[in-house]
Amino acid sequence: LESNTLIVVLGASGDLAKKKTFPALFGLYNNGFLPKGIRVVGYARTKMDEEEYHKRVQQYIKAPIPAMKEKLQEFLKICTYVSGQYDEDDSFQTLEKALGEIESQYEDKNSPKNRVFYMALPPSVFTTVAAHLRKNNYSEGGINRIIVEKPFGSDLASSRKMQEELKAEWKEDEIFRIDHYLGKEMVKNLLVLRFANVMLDASFNKSLISNVQITFKEPFGTEGRGGYFDEFGIIRDVMQNHLLQVLSILTMERPVSFSSEDIRDEKVKVLRYIPPISKDEVLLGQYVGAETKDGKKPGYLEDDTVPKDSICPTFAAAVMHINSPRWEGVPFILKAGKALNEQKTEIRIQYKDVTQGIFAEITRNELVIRVQPGEAVYLKMNSKAPGLSMRTVPTEMDLTYKRRFSDLKIPEAYEALILDAFKGDHSNFVRDDELDIAWKIFTPLLHHIDEQKPKPEPYSYGSRGPVGLDDFTAKHGGYKRSEKPYSWPSTSVL
Ligand code: NAP
Ligand code: NAP
Repeated sequence: LESNTLIVVLGASGDLAKKKTFPALFGLYNNGFLPKGIRVVGYARTKMDEEEYHKRVQQYIKAPIPAMKEKLQEFLKICTYVSGQYDEDDSFQTLEKALGEIESQYEDKNSPKNRVFYMALPPSVFTTVAAHLRKNNYSEGGINRIIVEKPFGSDLASSRKMQEELKAEWKEDEIFRIDHYLGKEMVKNLLVLRFANVMLDASFNKSLISNVQITFKEPFGTEGRGGYFDEFGIIRDVMQNHLLQVLSILTMERPVSFSSEDIRDEKVKVLRYIPPISKDEVLLGQYVGAETKDGKKPGYLEDDTVPKDSICPTFAAAVMHINSPRWEGVPFILKAGKALNEQKTEIRIQYKDVTQGIFAEITRNELVIRVQPGEAVYLKMNSKAPGLSMRTVPTEMDLTYKRRFSDLKIPEAYEALILDAFKGDHSNFVRDDELDIAWKIFTPLLHHIDEQKPKPEPYSYGSRGPVGLDDFTAKHGGYKRSEKPYSWPSTSVL
């Protein structure tokens, strides 16, 4: 979209809009990436005057230098707000009038008028709003796009219902389903790391790889915002979407091209090789209060917004199998948890043991791809300890982004994704069939948890997870931690 474009942010009074959407839009605007003459129209029920609205829009925008401050003032001038209901045509007609007025001021009167609708709304009003927009605010002759946010249902049936309702009004190529992990720099790099490096690509198979762990750790709990989380749990919140996306890109076959459909075809194909997760290959946990280095921290059940008898997992580890010729027999362990000892998202690919004989107790090769924080790719490899002996020592080949790329500026995931939506590039958005398969893999396990209510294992706030975790990864994944302690000497550069 080059010009004659506006974006409508539905739910503009909300948390996502102020924390992610507006800062991302400003980031793109500041760098000149948005279409010429772009206008941003907020919509929600809350009544606000312009001053109040602009205060909210800029609440999370950082503008540390004078040039950015000027740009921010310019940006606020293109941000307007309309208040209305989510289920009344009259309200959407009021919005339509406001959009029409903006469009009547376009310099180029003859070209089609394009509209992007960004749904920063709770799922309960999602499809109603999509239907009203289609009916009242669709630009005939122009390009229309609708960006939607998770959660896309809570199991296979509810996801299908939501997608059917959405697709009754909007065409698949108009729909952009956000999974913000797909906008992360390192996740986007996976395709390049794998397919632009013959030696990595050649090693990605069951002959050389023993097991893979994809880990998401958060160092904080629900901290008084447990209501939403308690309905979903960590599996729906992080694993079924973000970690499965990472898994599919990590393991898919080489796409025919980098076009969005070729990439998404391959992702769907590898997901189809994955059977539903077995309840016997899952470890569930829930954090309890503990003394940490930052003082005493409350347990999940001590959060006032959480039901006192909740069995909601705040930690889960699950084993997945890909029954394809490339991956059969390699366990993939997905781990996600809140209130753990650190923040990190990483992929840890552990290679098989070196044939024993000349070496005893040699550590395994590991390729670690750290998605966040501190993007890095490092390959742990054995080397001869310098000197007169033949002793081996675990070392690494290390690509630390901060050190390798000077003036590193990694765009926010939301910036990358909103820009893709403006460009019409679907590569980093979730296709309907992809979503369907993702739910097929997780739904039996989720229903088992919802119905049988297995009690999660308690783990202390600030720990690495339930006590059984390391036995679980050793037993189900075959992960072997090095006997020789590995330490990385270069922490000072980060
Ligand atoms: P939110 O603040 O609860 O809701 C956004 C706006 O929707 C509110 O300002 C409110 O505006 C309206 N709203 C809230 N509850 C409503 C209800 N029950 N019925 C009708 N309208 C209601 O939600 P959010 O955190 O911004 O999230 C929006 C969407 O993005 C959700 O689907 C969420 O799962 C997803 N998401 C959020 C985040 C995040 O960081 N917050 C991250 C990833 C995905 P008015 O009352 O003014 O109409
Ligand atoms: P590591 O500490 O040998 O291995 C970490 C792995 O072992 C994780 O899978 C972790 O699981 C597990 N683990 C941690 N403590 C354990 C325990 N007590 N028992 C059993 N398993 C345990 O090696 P590393 O993480 O690859 O590297 C060590 C440090 O160096 C890290 O802080 C890393 O970030 C840093 N480093 C950084 C770079 C770079 O930035 N370029 C390069 C190399 C190393 P969980 O994830 O579940 O806790």
